Amino acid sequence: MSILKQYRSVPIVYRIAVAFVLGALVGLVVGQPATSLQPVGDLFVRLLEMIIVPIIIFTLLMATRELSPKNLGKVGGQVVVLYLATTAVAIAMGLGVSNLIDPGTGITVKQTDVQTEQTPSLVDQIFSIVPENPFAAIAEGNILAIIFFTLIFGLGMTMVRAEAEPDSAVRNGIETIFDIVDAGAEVMFKIVWGIMEFGVIGVFALMAALFGDVGVKAIRAYFTLSLTLAVAIALQITLVYLLLLIRGAVGASPVAFLRGIKEALITALSIRSSTATLPITMSDADENLRIEERVYGFSLPLGATINMDGTSMYLGIVAVFAANMAGVSLTLAEQFAILLTALLASIGTAGVPSASLVMMTAVLTQVGLPLEVIGMIAGIDPLLDRLRTMNNIAGDLAVTTVVAKWNDAIDLTGGVWTDGSVGLT
Ligand code: ASP
Repeated sequence: MSILKQYRSVPIVYRIAVAFVLGALVGLVVGQPATSLQPVGDLFVRLLEMIIVPIIIFTLLMATRELSPKNLGKVGGQVVVLYLATTAVAIAMGLGVSNLIDPGTGITVKQTDVQTEQTPSLVDQIFSIVPENPFAAIAEGNILAIIFFTLIFGLGMTMVRAEAEPDSAVRNGIETIFDIVDAGAEVMFKIVWGIMEFGVIGVFALMAALFGDVGVKAIRAYFTLSLTLAVAIALQITLVYLLLLIRGAVGASPVAFLRGIKEALITALSIRSSTATLPITMSDADENLRIEERVYGFSLPLGATINMDGTSMYLGIVAVFAANMAGVSLTLAEQFAILLTALLASIGTAGVPSASLVMMTAVLTQVGLPLEVIGMIAGIDPLLDRLRTMNNIAGDLAVTTVVAKWNDAIDLTGGVWTDGSVGLT
């Protein structure tokens, strides 16, 4: 077997994992010069970003092909309620673990300039969903607006199809559009895996550039903050998602679930953006977890935008961290206010690297804590953001799996559920 063949016979996720570790080592050894590799990593992220809008449009239209408006309401309601519930639990988890570990005690605050951000109001959030011009929304990559318009367009097609005479030009035309969209979605998934081949190099470059820049000192400096986040995320994944799966999606083994989402997790860890990871998240849902498009085509783009369990949890943790540094203790009422603000703020946070640093100003202002903390923790954000993003993605996929099970939209007789085969190499 040629070397190339041998290389390609190793599943892509393992090749990326090796690239991740090697990149970090090279960065540590080489130091600053390794940062010159950054553009190679950025190119990988850009390639993923390139296909986000088409993949959302194609898969969401396919979802509407199967869904009646009534079913969409049911699936949508379940998805949104579970997203909100898991986010609230994540924040409570973050606050709970922070109260135990007490991150930030013994560190003093340095003065820095920070721009503040308000939590977006409910009216603003609703208005940002309805595009003034759908083509502008597509051009700007405004995901919520794209989801909204695509759903309406897809539902419009299914309604016209239902009313049209059998074999009429309109009815056939709509079926043809759906067939083209179906083919388009397949093509997108093909492209995703091509991009992931390049991802092996991209992830190596990203990690080398990161560790070349910050080294290990950043991890050491904020050990308790990092530890709090890591423990809370580990608990969220093992207790909340896996229990949710055991109770909510009987027959879907939690271990198989984790095996099935590893490509998405490692991509999130490498590129720190839930939105840019979306193509991989969808691909895992489709090919490994065997979930139907009618559920994931809707739930995953929505989740990448509004469901951020790791992010919201971190917002709560940083509030406790800031309070400890300022030497104040938070009352239960203040912690509740933090929970609510973090919930709203995480919905409004974009799925891009370090987006939560901006939303943090809203949470800290809410309870009158020093904003300088944000300047302090910005240095280690390139590391902590990876864990948050991974948790954000795991939350989207756990809820999607449960809702798919509730709606008979998951095939537990194939993919990772039965023999552990992953299908993606
Ligand atoms: N990077 C995160 C994401 O894309 C957002 C954040 O927590 O900063 O999901």
